Amino acid sequence: MTKGKVYLVGAGPGDPKLLTIYGLECIQQSDVIAYDRLVNPALLDHAKEGAELIFCGKLPGKHALIQEQTNQLLVEKAQEGKVVTRLKGGDPFVFGRGGEEAEVLRNHDIEYEVVPGITAGIAAPAYAGIPVTHRDFASSFAIVTGHGRASKQQDHLNWSALAQGIDTIAFYMSVGNLQYICEQLISHGKSSETPAALIEWGTLAKQRTITGCLENIYSKSIEEKITHPAIFLVSETVQIREKIKWFEQIVLEESLHES
Ligand code: SAH
Repeated sequence: MTKGKVYLVGAGPGDPKLLTIYGLECIQQSDVIAYDRLVNPALLDHAKEGAELIFCGKLPGKHALIQEQTNQLLVEKAQEGKVVTRLKGGDPFVFGRGGEEAEVLRNHDIEYEVVPGITAGIAAPAYAGIPVTHRDFASSFAIVTGHGRASKQQDHLNWSALAQGIDTIAFYMSVGNLQYICEQLISHGKSSETPAALIEWGTLAKQRTITGCLENIYSKSIEEKITHPAIFLVSETVQIREKIKWFEQIVLEESLHES
């Protein structure tokens, strides 16, 4: 039997219109769509009739097992000759385990393609009116996981390099670890007054943004009850938000229009 093919597709950060045209074609043409928890369900409406839609969301504490099952599923479906879209939030290669899945597929000699998606660390700030680079404020940008310590894994981040060498830092998976991240950046040399923003549910109508500085953003996040998923952005560029923010106004106008 001929082997199928797997497309590792980035679904974008939330707003369904931020999917790429190629990603849309993959969804439209696939026999199987294996999707993650942060994928906007509206994207599944584009699946062809009869397509098998499989939820591969991860449950806390069960990552490894679920990931193995997902790997197995991709291999099995492709070996049955099916075209499979593995749909992941944001970009498949940015904290999306896309690399691991590609390795498994290669090990089984299964054909695949990787379709990039717009990652949350850029999209959520954009919708919050915060550029990640700016000629006057930020010429370097790092994408960092904030999850290391919370999961009791060894904290392998080079905090000095981040604090002293990078102008804009986007922390993913950071909500439960915010206080620690701020403390580390300050104690490794970043000013406690460095502007910071927390953007929850970026690019969706329910997006919320809070701003402050390294010193106070954690307490503000508690007050405002910011939860997962959120991007924690540390950058001088956060100060431009007040001038160039745009998304909130559109959401407001749309809600007035609807009511
Ligand atoms: N592959 C994804 C990241 C997966 S890790 C990407 O490229 O975007 C999951 C983390 O992504 C979350 O903890 C959160 O930090 C971030 N994230 C995903 N969607 C988000 C959204 N709509 N708003 C804010 N953060 C988001």
